[in-house]
Amino acid sequence: MICLYQRTIKKPVEIKGIGLHTGQPVRIRLLPAGEFEGINFLRKGEIIPAKVESANGFTFSTSLEKNGVKIKTVEHLMAALYLTGIDNVYIEIDNEEVPILDGSAKPFVEAIKSAGIQPLKEEKLYAVINKRVRAGDWNGYVEGRPNLSLIVTYHASYNNDIIGNKAFTFEIENREDYLEILSARTYCFLEEVEYLRQNGLAKGGSLDNAVVIDGKNGCVVNPEGFRFKDEPIKHKALDLIGDLYLLGYPIIGEIYSYKGGHKLNAEFVRTLKRENAFELKYASEILEKIKETQCPDFLSKVYGR
Ligand SMILES: [Zn+2]
Repeated sequence: MICLYQRTIKKPVEIKGIGLHTGQPVRIRLLPAGEFEGINFLRKGEIIPAKVESANGFTFSTSLEKNGVKIKTVEHLMAALYLTGIDNVYIEIDNEEVPILDGSAKPFVEAIKSAGIQPLKEEKLYAVINKRVRAGDWNGYVEGRPNLSLIVTYHASYNNDIIGNKAFTFEIENREDYLEILSARTYCFLEEVEYLRQNGLAKGGSLDNAVVIDGKNGCVVNPEGFRFKDEPIKHKALDLIGDLYLLGYPIIGEIYSYKGGHKLNAEFVRTLKRENAFELKYASEILEKIKETQCPDFLSKVYGR
């Protein structure tokens, strides 16, 4: 899906919740922004760009930091902004962690939908991958390859039957994939819960905002089970999309992650930059004579309006 014009939101929208890891209440407000302003968090007088240069901390989530001011767990909000084509927005936040909500990107997408999407006058810029590039090793890697649209594959490999060893490929043009990706919830293993708690993590975690998997017994602890097939793998793809957006631009290319996580995702984005593995191109350069009418709004596509 290539859109011609940059996008922001029509009006401010507020979202309240608790942080997954801090367990603390937090309120964020998304505010409209102008062309080329990008995505920026506002906290304690600092403007913290949602870019890999600000990324600092990858323990079970992606954190940003500037001058000692932290913003934790940005990935699901970043994925929602990516998937709704928002290029420019300010995010006011009154605590150090983005709310976890239901553990997926869906509530953020709904908030963006309620605010409305505003096309801007300047054309959208895309990062077009121009060569094969990889971060990581055979134990886990993220690889980028040139392609005509964004295709994201996550390949999971666990020693259990419930997730096991399989891959899921997300094509941004596919409506069903799109709906499932944005609704896929955070998960953890029952065996990890003690470790997380001992390390001061997941203080806000509950069955309302995470899927807990009992790997030993091969079952889901949440009474409702998974929302759909392979929800955990789809969530990993969602995390990857959110982390990729720390490049500062939507990507045109094929991304393949084998057992990647937040740290590898960020390393991949840094590798793309270091190796000059992408070119910034305006939408019209990618699709000549594209018209806004040929670019149905992501949300109208999703919600059938
Ligand atoms: Zn996640």
